[in-house]
Amino acid sequence: MAGTEIGAPPAALPSSASPGRPSFSFELYPPRSEAAEKALYPALEQLIASGPAFISVTYGANGSSRTASLDVLRYLLRTGTVPAMAHFTAVSSSFSEASQLVREFLDAGVTSFLALRGDPPEGVPEDQLVLGDFGSASELVQLIHAVQTEREPFRAHDVPGFPGAKRLGSGRKVTIAVAAFPNGHPRSRSRAQDLDTLLAKEAAGANLAITQLFFEADDYLGFVDDARAAGVTMPILPGIMPVLSEKRLHRILELSGEAMPTQLLRDLRASDDPASVGIAQAAQLVRDVLAGGAPGVHLYTFNRSEAPLAVLGEVGLLTSREIPA
Ligand code: FAD
Repeated sequence: MAGTEIGAPPAALPSSASPGRPSFSFELYPPRSEAAEKALYPALEQLIASGPAFISVTYGANGSSRTASLDVLRYLLRTGTVPAMAHFTAVSSSFSEASQLVREFLDAGVTSFLALRGDPPEGVPEDQLVLGDFGSASELVQLIHAVQTEREPFRAHDVPGFPGAKRLGSGRKVTIAVAAFPNGHPRSRSRAQDLDTLLAKEAAGANLAITQLFFEADDYLGFVDDARAAGVTMPILPGIMPVLSEKRLHRILELSGEAMPTQLLRDLRASDDPASVGIAQAAQLVRDVLAGGAPGVHLYTFNRSEAPLAVLGEVGLLTSREIPA
């Protein structure tokens, strides 16, 4: 699979710290307790100092984490050094509730979204999930564009060579990322359905895809090949999670519906230091997807800095950066 043409670093991606190098970015979740909040910010400082292209913040089912998510996003925006991406979910929401929330995020200064259908609320099985006004994530993509355009249809742009002169042009564009599933969404009946869904999201205005976690580089590289053949042109960023324990592995498979990576399970069980096994496995995966042409990597952090930074350090993406001790 090496050498697969996957595309240049995405124009739609919030700016990367080092042009010409693969980008890296992180996912955080909003803290659910005071203790978790206390632990988050020192980790966040370390992650910010590494120079990511952006940091995304998840959103709880049914908007359950709205305030906590916005707090973390506002913190990131205040630093002014790293673009912030807000996950935003449609599940069980009406059009008017979602429009109001999108406005609230835009007012806070967020201009990057990850538009998602959303996980079912706790205790609700996937096949009994009742959707609100939105049938899918692509309808949410359309809504975010519509709200942003209505809010800022025009903008004054500088005229090169004429200091002080302004011309009216279209308003600020938002980055709208969407989810992609290299091994299929649990509710999808076929690969073709997953590809059609991704294509529909791009047609609705999405300009970046971020994948569900996976454990084999070929899962991602093969999916990207198929997506390109199906007509998807937006960059597809691989989502990678360092798995630091057997317990964590079981939990993420439960949440994602991914199949058990048998070799990783064996290696985690056999080692006295499972964290280093998970870091080495994730680093190898990063090397393989980048060698195959991925434009960058999006690391799931579980709100910790050590493991994602160790992975990036192992693959040489941190060499010129200063990480405070
Ligand atoms: P869609 O694109 O709408 O659908 C995904 C798939 O489901 C498609 O294959 C579609 O064909 C099929 N499908 C959808 N509805 C039906 C139906 N009614 N009948 C049959 N098939 C159907 N969840 C959160 O709650 N908060 C988060 O912050 C969050 N962050 C995420 C970040 C990433 C990178 C990823 C990959 C997932 C994230 N999720 C999050 C999980 C996501 O919300 C779920 O995976 C959800 O089940 C699908 O979301 P989607 O946006 O891909 O949905």
